[in-house]
Amino acid sequence: MSSVSAQQREIIERLTAAADPATKRDASEAEQASRELIAIAEDAHDDELALVAHVWLCINLHQRGKLHQAISLAQVLRPQLTDERPGTRLGDLRLELLRTTALAASEAGEFDIGIDAAEELANDPDVHTRADAAFDAAFSLAICLERMGNSWQALRVLNDVMARHGDGPPSFGMLYTLNGIVATAIGAFHRVRDLDDGEAVDLLITARDAAERAVPMLDQFANQLYRAALTGNLGEILIYQGELDAADHHLRGALAWAEEIDATAHRDRIRASIGAWLLASGQADEALEWLEQLVDDLDEDGTHSTRVRAHHTAHLAARELGWYDRALDHLTEYERLERQRTTSQLRSASELFVTRTEAEAEAERHRYSAERDPLTGLANRRRLNRVLAELNAAADEPAPYALAMVDVDHFKSVNDELGHAVGDSVLVELAQILLDGVGDDDVVVRYGGEEIVIVFPGAGADTAAFRCERLRSVIEQHVWADLPAGRRLTVSMGIASTPHTGPERVVGAADRAMYAAKRGGRNQVRVATDDDARDATPTSIPRR
Ligand code: GH3
Ligand code: MG
Ligand code: MG
Repeated sequence: MSSVSAQQREIIERLTAAADPATKRDASEAEQASRELIAIAEDAHDDELALVAHVWLCINLHQRGKLHQAISLAQVLRPQLTDERPGTRLGDLRLELLRTTALAASEAGEFDIGIDAAEELANDPDVHTRADAAFDAAFSLAICLERMGNSWQALRVLNDVMARHGDGPPSFGMLYTLNGIVATAIGAFHRVRDLDDGEAVDLLITARDAAERAVPMLDQFANQLYRAALTGNLGEILIYQGELDAADHHLRGALAWAEEIDATAHRDRIRASIGAWLLASGQADEALEWLEQLVDDLDEDGTHSTRVRAHHTAHLAARELGWYDRALDHLTEYERLERQRTTSQLRSASELFVTRTEAEAEAERHRYSAERDPLTGLANRRRLNRVLAELNAAADEPAPYALAMVDVDHFKSVNDELGHAVGDSVLVELAQILLDGVGDDDVVVRYGGEEIVIVFPGAGADTAAFRCERLRSVIEQHVWADLPAGRRLTVSMGIASTPHTGPERVVGAADRAMYAAKRGGRNQVRVATDDDARDATPTSIPRR
């Protein structure tokens, strides 16, 4: 920033004020200001300011109803903010970006992107300690669920977070959570109003309670956008509760605010409610004209649910007027849009499933390679620790298991006489012989250079000794691919088991028994003695 002149700084300050979604009054000016700010920040090589301005552009695009542009931009920006923690400028910006992504994507019917962003918010560690983070996460998830057609699950998520944090001081988070309850209850109302009168009435009461709790918070926390959204919602509730004068008052106010700040998506939604108001006040003719104008004005990128609602209300208006052709046209279009949404819901539900399965497979692949010895493909010590930890945690009493330490006899001579590459090939072949010779539950681990540990879960020392004796004999007779004809190899093995040694001495005792096998002439299997068990060097017990 040192290269920035005083004049440039002044421009930056002016644009910052105009672009910041929290302070702006006019969404299209704010969009323009964020674009100019990006250009200036990039000229000045101010990466942080450029990033901030990009996120603001994204939020401003969303507020202008340019959903697909906002979503594409958000997908580019998210990875750049992944590591930022809340409480810092970029960390808080990250939360805003995730919330915007969740909202824009669910409005546009891109539910998989929306849920993904909401889940990233919900997985944030701050969700457990900070009410604002909890409100953020719950709200974003609820909006996706709501738009996917599951208003009831969305309501549950929002009511849950209010139950946990609703006693706290009023905050912006509480305000938009309450507004979320309002919007979700209205959504649920529209789904049941033809099916269940009782539930429809209850949902309107829920919505109105939340709205009346939220309205007093508007002055303290809200920008124009929230004022427009909440007031518009309250107006809509009042229509269906039959309080038409009050509804009119709120809808007019909401429309004026939305237009003042050029918040297209909210303005159109309020226009759809005004159509419903006209119909409810006996002006079906005006309602139909108004709604058909609205449908014409909605651009392709506009909010799906507003279009759905406009066609539905237009259908009702036309039917009331006895204009059955137009009523049918609107009904057909309404049903097509609903089908589109259902299809999109199903598709994204299946994509979510695929994404999750792929993510799990990827994690499994990652763990597989992290716990594997690259030369032999055997498990490595990390895997050994995990296996032992699982066995040690299996019950109150550690589960019994036996462990064999295997060491190739005179292996150094293979390297010395035939070269390291031949030594490597022998190790690979040995690994395969051992894998072929053990049971499905047994684990073969490359412990060190040519030392291998075999874990026999559930086995005592005798069983393990019997199996190891068989392995020893197979190895003794094996004809090695890269060794000269007639060259044989042998192994020495030591065995210990946990009931005898306890988990902390099992490796040491097996090692001592293996050295006893070497001293005894190699090519043999020894079970740890009481002395081995007592004198073994303890190792730390791997725990989960
Ligand atoms: P003994 O165990 O019977 O006492 O004799 P040894 O010759 O096998 O002796 P020791 O176990 O001490 O030596 C192990 C040798 O194994 C040392 C090293 O050259 C060789 N070695 C260890 N890791 C590898 C490896 O990855 N590849 C090859 N080629 N050789 C290895
Ligand atoms: Mg060795
Ligand atoms: Mg050896």
